[in-house]
Amino acid sequence: MGALLKGIVSELRINPCPCGNYGSRTRQCRCTPLDIKRYLSRISGPLLDRIDMHIEVESIPPERLNDEKPGRSSAEMRAEVEAARAVQRERYNSEGIACNARLSAGTLNRYCRLSGQAAQIMNAASEKMGLSNRAYTRVLKVARTIADLAGEKDISVDHIGEALQYRMIDAKYWG
Ligand SMILES: [Zn+2]
Repeated sequence: MGALLKGIVSELRINPCPCGNYGSRTRQCRCTPLDIKRYLSRISGPLLDRIDMHIEVESIPPERLNDEKPGRSSAEMRAEVEAARAVQRERYNSEGIACNARLSAGTLNRYCRLSGQAAQIMNAASEKMGLSNRAYTRVLKVARTIADLAGEKDISVDHIGEALQYRMIDAKYWG
């Protein structure tokens, strides 16, 4: 699902530290704690808040680049993204908007309503991670998009869980 979502969001790539190895399981970071702190402080919380998804990517050694099994083709992914887009256009027909990203505070409550366990998990995680209102809203919209890509009407626990994962990096590096 990650790859699918990547097709419909813009990307900002940043290293975790000046040498790029901080947080890596396989490579050694050569930076001092002060280097890292200074480097990360250039990327502000409010900026991170405005980015829907944060994904940590371990760099792949060149000799392993061809190991990956072929996944879905770009054409297949494109078809799935277009289907999800069509669902959104239809759903928001009367709202004058075309996609989840354009939901306002009022319409968000109507179309991204969580029930039962999904609501509990969202509330608990939001408290634990200290999500701002803006971040909370973004998680909901991403979860709605994940549900749409899966062709499901309701936002499930799995959809919320995946959307929350995209906010975990804030806590790890900036928390
Ligand atoms: Zn480093």
